[in-house]
Amino acid sequence: MSIHGKNFIGNDLSSNGDKTSKLYDINSNEALDGEFFHATQNEVEVALAKADKAFIEYKQTSQAKRAEFLETIASEIMNLGDELIIRTMSESNLPRPRIEGERGRTIGQIKMFANLLKEGSWIEASIDEALPERTPLPRNDLRKMLRPLGVVSVFEASNFPLAFACAGGDTASALAAGCPVIVKAHSSHSGTSELIASAIIKAVKLCNMPDGTFSMLHGGGRTVGQQIVLDEVVKAVGFTGSTQAGMKLFELANNRKTPIPVFAEMGSINPCLFLPSSLSDTKKLAITYAGSITLGVGQFCTNPGLILALKDNKLEEFKKDLGEAIKVSSPSTMLSSSIQEAFETNKNEAISQDGIELLGESNIENTKSEGRPTVASVDALKFIANPKLQEEVFGPYSLIVECNDISELNEVISSLEGQLTVTVMGEESEMSSYKEQIFALENKCGRILFNGVPTGVEVCASMQHGGPFPAATDSRFTSVGTGAIKRFVRPVCYQDCPSSLLPDELKDENPLNILRIVNDKYSKSSI
Ligand code: NAP
Repeated sequence: MSIHGKNFIGNDLSSNGDKTSKLYDINSNEALDGEFFHATQNEVEVALAKADKAFIEYKQTSQAKRAEFLETIASEIMNLGDELIIRTMSESNLPRPRIEGERGRTIGQIKMFANLLKEGSWIEASIDEALPERTPLPRNDLRKMLRPLGVVSVFEASNFPLAFACAGGDTASALAAGCPVIVKAHSSHSGTSELIASAIIKAVKLCNMPDGTFSMLHGGGRTVGQQIVLDEVVKAVGFTGSTQAGMKLFELANNRKTPIPVFAEMGSINPCLFLPSSLSDTKKLAITYAGSITLGVGQFCTNPGLILALKDNKLEEFKKDLGEAIKVSSPSTMLSSSIQEAFETNKNEAISQDGIELLGESNIENTKSEGRPTVASVDALKFIANPKLQEEVFGPYSLIVECNDISELNEVISSLEGQLTVTVMGEESEMSSYKEQIFALENKCGRILFNGVPTGVEVCASMQHGGPFPAATDSRFTSVGTGAIKRFVRPVCYQDCPSSLLPDELKDENPLNILRIVNDKYSKSSI
């Protein structure tokens, strides 16, 4: 299948614009197949109008029908075969095993939402039957469940071209919730986006979903992206990427005539607290952490960018061992030349700050597309005094913060901004003496993990991928796992609603056999 570069406006392909862009291999600089047409203002308007119209029908589809639709999307993505893998590899510079794994994760999360819909209880149905005899006032019949918000705008991330992209978690959860989706393709992997969009549109047609259930548009974030978010048709935004872009979208969405939620995941430095007992085998710990810092060339929002520890001889040994482990790790090709340039600039700025000691930089000279792993350390008071040191350096970089005593450690923890994850390393017996610090760290993050590395985000019901600001714009929600669907729904209460108009989920007979709260008790029974 050759890449046509057109926009998917509902079920139609469109290329009315004059502005186009091409993609180039980051190493060879050879042009990749396809020329991408940036959507015009009018094309964006047509996609929005189609999505608005589609919502009326799509929101009324049964959970079973939407589950079938999601499963068809998953099959159609698999049917793209090796062409998808090869295109994604050439656009992202990520190796085959990583892309095949990411495809598996993408398919897995789409099917996870399909299973959630088949089970059905996630919609939080509750029924309080009428009490006509109640005194002094009778009670009406009240029934509540979660209903879809409306059209959702999704921005693809560059670092997960499949799993946080066109058919990634945002799209899958929004479609599962009953919301049409308009994706703004990421300009660094537009061909991958096109292939995935073609699979989704095939599924739309095969499952007879309304035209406009899904659209995918090329073009700049500042033009196409902002036009979508500013349109009153759009009712929520899903985003993963930089703080600067996430905050711009958040600001625009809040200043609309009708403000809407923006679920932006904007990265994190993921502090790791190394308790003294964790430093018994410094070499082993250094190798484990060097592996996590350099995994995927550090291009994960869960990269361990900050290590907190108390000063002592074992910490000195660890600093040396981590420096050595980083020196022998190889630079690797980053996602794009702009991400590589941003890494170099941000890393150089970070290590030139007052009080920074360079512990190790890869011994191997990097090419201009590669990120060179680097670790540094700084004293706690210098860290607290300099907010620059809390900024994410997206790539293989980490900073050790050395605390003279517990009181300095407490100050460092209290100075931390919101994070996606926090890690605590040490023996359980010792952790009980650090409960205060551990609970203080819990306040700062969405996921706290013990004796592990923060890289690796399981897709499941118990996952929380989000955290207090600035890690995310709304810490009450997750962008990974079944809970992600809750971002795109709102509760609706039906008072004295005739049975024929009630959704199946709220009918007396409970035809879907879901778990409901009936008169304050959890039950699957009919009433
Ligand atoms: P990005 O610059 O935030 O871009 C993400 C998306 O937002 C793109 O579609 C982009 O459109 C759009 N966008 C950018 N600026 C915008 C604006 N002012 N208004 C509206 N839309 C806008 O992220 P990136 O390109 O993936 O990487 C850049 C940096 O982001 C990295 O170096 C890294 O620091 C950070 N990052 C963080 C994460 C994370 O996990 N939180 C993931 C990836 C990257 P265009 O197509 O026009 O660029």
